[in-house]
Amino acid sequence: MYVGVDVGGTKVLAVEISETGNVVRVARDSTPGRGDPVSELEDALTRAVEAVRDGRPLTGVGVSAAALIEPSGETVRFAPHLPWREEPVRERLATRWGAPVVLDNDAHCAAEAELANGAGRGVGSFLLVNIGTGIGGGLVLDGRVWRGAGGMSGEFGHMQVVPEGLACECGLSGCWEQYCSGRALERVVRVALGSHLDGPEVTAQAKAGDELARQAFATIGTWLGVGLANLVAAFDPALLVVGGGVSTVGDLLLDPARNALSRSLVAARHRTVPPIVPAALGSEAGAIGAALLARRQI
Ligand SMILES: [Zn+2]
Repeated sequence: MYVGVDVGGTKVLAVEISETGNVVRVARDSTPGRGDPVSELEDALTRAVEAVRDGRPLTGVGVSAAALIEPSGETVRFAPHLPWREEPVRERLATRWGAPVVLDNDAHCAAEAELANGAGRGVGSFLLVNIGTGIGGGLVLDGRVWRGAGGMSGEFGHMQVVPEGLACECGLSGCWEQYCSGRALERVVRVALGSHLDGPEVTAQAKAGDELARQAFATIGTWLGVGLANLVAAFDPALLVVGGGVSTVGDLLLDPARNALSRSLVAARHRTVPPIVPAALGSEAGAIGAALLARRQI
């Protein structure tokens, strides 16, 4: 039995996958705060894994974490929303669970899942852009997830798109995710309407036909297309896959992005502009990808 467990800033999700990579069992828990002890975080992971395992023997577990993980997959160096700091997480969890464990970054895991069983299946080279609170990404080149020399590829959200632009949590300024993310959406609505709606509320209003909410999505969708044009110029992928909570609004976000991509991409009239499609596996992609990694590597 292969289990994947995804550790995000607010929740833990564990899945068991079938031979074909389909989810057959799910368990959820909540993530303790980043100021809480590491043991509480690992207890939450353990509860989710045990709930899925249900007393049966484990063959292997993949852990997908919203964290910077050193390339060998042993140590979490840093995670902005989790208490792990330079912790030997892989070995500790393997000892605790009595099963082999693999550990990888959540965006890389999500890209593995979309490649194997999602929107990128059968596509050799594509980019996954996950738009949630910020932007995470995965880079698939010639059928493999490209992790980077230091395991840090896909930090698309921190490409600078506006020199001297808005300050970013990462310490730089003008980062893409300041203009295209859940937080950016909330800012646009606050400035345009003076109202303090959160992302899901703006999404609901846009779906219900509210013109100002739709305008807010058009604004961040245009920024999405501008950033994607830079990525396409660099990597020339066959496909662009957009996931994350903000993307659940669908074409209200993706159509403005498609227009901006065609306008901003070098030689757009002399090349095939890659299609922008929604991710297929939703919020389970990280956990599924981690389970698939465990199956491949254990
Ligand atoms: Zn940044």
